[in-house]
Amino acid sequence: MNVPLFSFCDALKLDDMHAWTETILDALLPRHCILCGLGSGSRNICPPCSEELPHVEQPCSGCGLPITSTDSSHCERCINYPFPWDSAITALPYAFPVDQLVRRFKFSRSLAAGQVLAERLTRAVVASGKQLPDAIIPVPLHRSRLVSRTFNQSEILARYAAGALQIPLYPTALRRTRKTRAHSGLDAVSRRVNINAAFTFALPAKKREKLQHAALVDDVLTTGATLAECTGVLKSAGIQRISVWVVARAPAPGNQAV
Ligand SMILES: [Zn+2]
Ligand SMILES: [Zn+2]
Repeated sequence: MNVPLFSFCDALKLDDMHAWTETILDALLPRHCILCGLGSGSRNICPPCSEELPHVEQPCSGCGLPITSTDSSHCERCINYPFPWDSAITALPYAFPVDQLVRRFKFSRSLAAGQVLAERLTRAVVASGKQLPDAIIPVPLHRSRLVSRTFNQSEILARYAAGALQIPLYPTALRRTRKTRAHSGLDAVSRRVNINAAFTFALPAKKREKLQHAALVDDVLTTGATLAECTGVLKSAGIQRISVWVVARAPAPGNQAV
């Protein structure tokens, strides 16, 4: 499978000096696998650990959960109560050790974990064979959370995919205008209420006119409340087709895909 190479330094918007430092350090200090600690050459994960990451044999095209039927590309939930987006690509199940990688990237700022996840997402997009979008839009953080976390993990994932796939990135097309509670610990209904009317859309008319199909990028899909709210805002703005690209698919609280 051909995934174009793209520097994670670019995704992080590191300057030339940082990029050169990383290149030199790579040459001098071969990396160690972030999962098993063994030497992994110029990569952040060794081939055996990469091979052993969990995967879903037959993911639902609407939500990424495993499906058992061979007659449909969608799970029963998505057939009966489809999400508002048009299709979903979820790279990995949110299971050990993917959950650890996501947390290390998001909360401990592990760039090595971020790079592994960004590569897997890009690889899943290429492997899907689905039509690529006109532009990529990350799920935004509220300004106050961005200040405390210092970076938006979804934007870094989106920036990496945009660079590797040569697709325009619109990092500020969506804005989170209302501060919301963290979703961990909330059930599906509380998440929907919490995220309601939290986003606005803003894009110059020239770019907007050419945008018929956008990919919405986030790190984890659980109940889908945030991605559904963002999709609604983008569709209200006239974007006809929304593809959701997510690194990890977690079962909703109570193990129900709601
Ligand atoms: Zn390893
Ligand atoms: Zn589904």
